[in-house]
Amino acid sequence: MTTVAEALAAIARLTPLGTEEIPLAEAPGRVLARAIRADLDWPPFETSAMDGYAVRLEDVRVPGTILAEREGLVAAGDAPPAPIRPGQAVRVMTGAAMPANAEAVVPVERSRREGGRVRLEIVPAAGAHLRRRGESIASGVELLPAGRRLAPSAVALAAMAGADPVSVFRRPRIAIAATGNELVPARETPGPGQLRDSNGPMLAALCRERGWPAAARARVADDVEGVARLFAEAGAHEDILMTSGGVSAGDLDLLPPAAVKAGFELLFHGVAMRPGKPVAVARRGATIWIGLPGNPVSTSVGFHLFAREIAGRLEGDTSPGAPRVTAKLAAPISAPGPRETYRDAVWETAGGESRVAEVRSAGSHDIGAHARANALIVQPAGTPALPAGAVVTCLLTREAP
Ligand code: AMP
Ligand code: MG
Repeated sequence: MTTVAEALAAIARLTPLGTEEIPLAEAPGRVLARAIRADLDWPPFETSAMDGYAVRLEDVRVPGTILAEREGLVAAGDAPPAPIRPGQAVRVMTGAAMPANAEAVVPVERSRREGGRVRLEIVPAAGAHLRRRGESIASGVELLPAGRRLAPSAVALAAMAGADPVSVFRRPRIAIAATGNELVPARETPGPGQLRDSNGPMLAALCRERGWPAAARARVADDVEGVARLFAEAGAHEDILMTSGGVSAGDLDLLPPAAVKAGFELLFHGVAMRPGKPVAVARRGATIWIGLPGNPVSTSVGFHLFAREIAGRLEGDTSPGAPRVTAKLAAPISAPGPRETYRDAVWETAGGESRVAEVRSAGSHDIGAHARANALIVQPAGTPALPAGAVVTCLLTREAP
């Protein structure tokens, strides 16, 4: 059977969708298609950090020095003023361009106006309250690499560099279909043997959280015609068809053979992991099918481990997976057996140390336990039981604990 590492390696070969130019205002959360470089120094000119007086150091050698105040003041947005003449102080506002020969600013709070003159109570240090041109960012440096998802601080850098419009990768459009004869919509009361579809809404929510446009398809019954239609229509309006259910080895698990019959080529079907073993991924041309198992914890684990990675790669994200961290076990965990195991867990950092505690779960149907977790403890196949205090790898499923 395919290992998780092999499955992830197959996914890593997927290539991004096309690129598009969009207004910077629409770019938060999108992935850059082209690196952004600084086209100017930052700050772009020497400026004052305070309201005060720009001076030359040789004019202010003792506290209480009185200088001639030049008429007028220099405010933010004014053109750079003429140089300071000997014995002169120039009134400047925060953010104002400085006279070229200014060596310090004496804050207005440390000065007193006396007619056309100003008394300076202190001797400023060289460079006091001056912001130097380029001290934060030098023109020409790479501010953001291609493949970076734009957080708000990155949007600020892009704006500073004039990247508007900005070149980003296209977002994958995702269609979500829950399969199973037993399913009824959330607003209905299930009859005998039925249950409410929770995977469809969960997958839509997980996609929305990542900014991927997701459209819910009608639920699909476990019949050959309906499943065949699903795959025949796949790709008309989406880059990814994401399904839940119907991928294990049961009599009604119709999806993998139907996908193959419809011309999809399997990247893998069945991964040596627990939960989520039946997961299948296939492609037909540019369309990708992600077949997640129906048990809700398996569905979610499959999303975090594979779907997030796949959609992220299509979107050009160079680090698309759920974040991996290490943490100390708060309590012992049992051995995983022959399949790579993902255990619901609560991960937290306190006092500079990360700890993780397994959430007791009844199995891959236990959505109650899963909803209390914010992480998955990863146990490689065949590794031993671990005592409290052992260091383990965790996959963060919710980024803030
Ligand atoms: P399957 O993978 O189709 O064999 O489904 C396994 C089990 O997952 C089913 O017996 C249901 O209990 C559950 N299940 C399947 N689909 C859903 C769904 N959309 N929402 C919630 N539970 C589901
Ligand atoms: Mg089913």
